[in-house]
Amino acid sequence: MSIKEIDIHSALKQYFGFSKFKGLQESVIKSVVAGEDVFVIMPTGGGKSLCYQLPALISEGTAIIVSPLIALMKNQVDAIRGISKEDGVAHVLNSSLNKTEIRQVKEDITNGVTKLLYVAPESLTKEEHVEFLRSVTISFMAVDEAHCISEWGHDFRPEYRNLRHIIKRIGDNIPIIGLTATATPKVQEDILKSLDITDATCFKASFNRPNLYYEIRPKTKNVDADITRFVKSNEGKSGIIYCLSRKRVEELAQVLQVNGIKAVPYHAGLDPKTRVKHQDMFLMEDCDVVVATIAFGMGIDKPDVRFVVHHDMPKSIESYYQETGRAGRDGGEGHCLAYYAYKDIEKLEKFMSGKPVAEQEIGHALLQEVVAFAESSVSRRKFILHYFGEEFDNATGEGGEMDDNVRYPKKQIEAKTHVLTL
Ligand code: ADP
Ligand code: MG
Repeated sequence: MSIKEIDIHSALKQYFGFSKFKGLQESVIKSVVAGEDVFVIMPTGGGKSLCYQLPALISEGTAIIVSPLIALMKNQVDAIRGISKEDGVAHVLNSSLNKTEIRQVKEDITNGVTKLLYVAPESLTKEEHVEFLRSVTISFMAVDEAHCISEWGHDFRPEYRNLRHIIKRIGDNIPIIGLTATATPKVQEDILKSLDITDATCFKASFNRPNLYYEIRPKTKNVDADITRFVKSNEGKSGIIYCLSRKRVEELAQVLQVNGIKAVPYHAGLDPKTRVKHQDMFLMEDCDVVVATIAFGMGIDKPDVRFVVHHDMPKSIESYYQETGRAGRDGGEGHCLAYYAYKDIEKLEKFMSGKPVAEQEIGHALLQEVVAFAESSVSRRKFILHYFGEEFDNATGEGGEMDDNVRYPKKQIEAKTHVLTL
């Protein structure tokens, strides 16, 4: 074992209290510590944060972490401060800070106390910040949620497009590490090009979630009753039910409540206090089911979610994968049930009609994949993994029998049509 290897193992124990690296973490961290440009694709929950946090803590200088969500940045900063004696070890630089706070942040960086500086991309466009960062030692730059750079990603943010330019201004030789849970080949290519790291060392973890069971049912007018039955057959288990609209969230939550199920609604139209209360109830097991719009789930780390139901199909396979991925984080069972009707797809198409043409085209292409997925008789798992650029063999792969199309093969539709036309 080289000194560096011993270093990263003891740092893992010392700072994070873990005795083993997860998946590809160790190889990623070695590359980052060696100063390479690195690209990491790992599913949500795979442990991407540690891939930059640990190297940041043991490297000289300050690592800049670009992240799109202020709430998630704050969580991470609190967590890092919790494992270090120095409060200044991690800071956030964003528009909510006053002058005194900004001065403190800059002082801590200059004095070498700050190892991780979290920034929102829009803060990096501020000339005074760029000037300041040019003058200090930067260990590397991590771009978390790097798919935000791509119009093909599920969360495109135009500010991410400028990052490469800004990084170059801060320093010419700053290693860049891009991280994402979105693995479609198009998004990947976009990230590597936009960040100008086409020679980066790439690490890609498998997206297979062998403990999840995928099922799609046709959506009829009895969908509420069907969902109620499904939830009742999973009594005492935690689950999330996603609906497209706030109105549907409220209605379905009520239907479930009337049927004696401990369910709460969650959507961005509720006042913040209620939202926090309902989220906490779910985390503390005071309720079994959250009926929610996609506003729910970002950063929620409840390991024992046993089912995720989609009352409406999501707008892309990535969204479907992300949302179903909240089930079975602990490795235990996770049932992913979605209801599909083509007219829902048309509804989603209509939502896009006010958007720029380029966006509409991308949105349309992504939706067509959802249609193909829902209507396909191919193994759901195989379809999803293929979408992410992975080949999957149901006979030998883990979880090969864990979807409706494999377990209950559909009758050949071609054969039926043929009979009808005779
Ligand atoms: P991602 O960003 O890939 O979605 P996170 O960085 O949020 O994942 O990590 C997910 C969870 O895994 C966190 O609760 C984290 O503490 C845990 N974790 C990360 N690395 C390890 C490890 N080596 N051993 C045990 N748990 C880990
Ligand atoms: Mg993450």
